[in-house]
Amino acid sequence: MPSPIGHSLLAFTVAGYDARKGSSRLWWWLLILTAAVAPDFDFLPGILIGDPNRFHHGPSHSITAALLFALTFWLLIKPVGRREALILFSVYLSHLVADMLAADHGAPYGIPLFWPLVDDYFISPTPLFSNFSHGGRGEGLAGVLVDIFSMPNLRAVAIEVLILGPLLWLVQRLRRRRLSGHP
Ligand SMILES: [Zn+2]
Repeated sequence: MPSPIGHSLLAFTVAGYDARKGSSRLWWWLLILTAAVAPDFDFLPGILIGDPNRFHHGPSHSITAALLFALTFWLLIKPVGRREALILFSVYLSHLVADMLAADHGAPYGIPLFWPLVDDYFISPTPLFSNFSHGGRGEGLAGVLVDIFSMPNLRAVAIEVLILGPLLWLVQRLRRRRLSGHP
C-alpha cells in the first residue's frame, strides 16, 4: 500500500479538478482527506486487539465500501449533494487503485476490489509505488510503528511525492485558471 501521504496527494489531485466557487471550503477538504484514508480505518479494530494488521485489506478496500461511504455522506450530511458524493466516491476509489498499484509485501496481497460478489484479491503485476511497510499479521503495535518509521518507508514516500506532486501541482494550476475565469 502507499503511505497516507501518497493517498492524500492523489485524493487532492482527484478532487482538485472541481473548480466551482465554494469548493475551497475547509470542511470539504477535510472530508476529502477522510475519504482518502478511510479504507485504512480497517487498522483500528486490529489496534484494539493488539494486532493492527489483522483486518487490513478487508471489505473496506472494495467498490461496495466506496459506494456505502459516499452514500452515507450524501444521505446524512446536508451540504453533500450528488456532485460532492460522486467526488467522495472517486476519491475513495483512488485509494483502492493506488493500493493495487503499490507493491505489497504482506499477505493478503492486493485488495478484495469486488467484495462481496467476488472474494479474489487484485493487485497490479507491475507496481508503480513502493511498499509502505506496516508490519505483518500477528505483529504488535510497537513492531508496526518501528516498521512505519523506517528508512525504506521514507524512500517509498519520496517516490510517491515525486510521482504525485507534479500531478497535483498541474491540477491545482488548472483549477485556479478555471476559477479565475480563464478558459
Ligand atoms: Zn489501503
